[in-house]
Amino acid sequence: MFDVPPLAAAAVMIDAFPVACFATDRSRTIRYANAEASSLFGSVLGQTIGLHIEAVLTPASKIFCNSYVYPLLFADGCCEELALTLVTQTGSRVPVVANARMHGSEFVLWSAMRAEKREKLQGEVLRARNALQGQTRALELLASRDELTGLLNRRAATHSIQTLIAAADEAETDVTVLLLDIDRFKAINDNYGHDAGDNVLRQLGAALQSTVRLHEVVGRYGGEEFILAIAANDEVAARSLNERVHAAAASVSGPGAPVTVSVGLHRRLRSDAASLQEVVQAADRALYAAKAFGRNCSMVEQNGVLTSFG
Ligand code: GH3
Ligand code: MG
Ligand code: MG
Repeated sequence: MFDVPPLAAAAVMIDAFPVACFATDRSRTIRYANAEASSLFGSVLGQTIGLHIEAVLTPASKIFCNSYVYPLLFADGCCEELALTLVTQTGSRVPVVANARMHGSEFVLWSAMRAEKREKLQGEVLRARNALQGQTRALELLASRDELTGLLNRRAATHSIQTLIAAADEAETDVTVLLLDIDRFKAINDNYGHDAGDNVLRQLGAALQSTVRLHEVVGRYGGEEFILAIAANDEVAARSLNERVHAAAASVSGPGAPVTVSVGLHRRLRSDAASLQEVVQAADRALYAAKAFGRNCSMVEQNGVLTSFG
């Protein structure tokens, strides 16, 4: 059996507890504080008694107490795990985790523990999470971008076009997919070197990027091929895109003859349920036809029929 300590000894023991205990009355004035509470408030014991609770709280914690803690105390009789920030009498701030409980109708009994280490740890976790998010974003960017041109790579462009098609189906809109291939590109490499070829690809990529409009997709499909897509019901938008693509090629300053492109298009009608693969295959057949037709031109395949476009 334990000995029941005499009252004076119990008070000494409460002072020795590593938790701040204090009581406030109806006017929110501190009426009791143990040694740890006085140390937390940065005052000597005699000065702690009589302090108003608002004198030891930051403005934000004051608002939190008035708008949340006290209403909840009156409703439920207790509040737990309150994250408060105290202001010591010397002006420094101490984060604490506090519990509060009504004692009769007159007093609120408080216990508060320093939470500096927890705050520090939370800060570190937050910083680590932010760094991780930044790295994830950088990785996503790396994984979705073509290194040479900075355009969407084939996988990301295909994904974007898939999303465009899904949205177009919802809105009952047609989607035009355009494939373009630089004419006689191998000759640039052969005659002027691989770096000159890379430079042409970079310039064309930048020109295409600056010519596309919001909701149009552009990506490097591979090698010297690029893919573009637009959702629109009239052919005017597809014609405009086709013209802009040829103009983008013309704007490239190549090392030799002017840079031209051959273009293949396919219009996926809103009534079609054609897959992206079928759409791209149709555009690819049209591109092949444009090459056969003499290059520097555009062809469209619609219902299996190839016609010149633009
Ligand atoms: P066509 O008009 O029929 O399209 O002729 P082409 O010479 O453009 O086509 P071909 O397929 O014969 O050659 C494409 C060349 O593109 C071959 C390949 O080495 C080159 N190529 C592919 N990717 C790159 C790249 O990233 N940089 C450079 N410099 N060349 C590339
Ligand atoms: Mg090619
Ligand atoms: Mg080519």
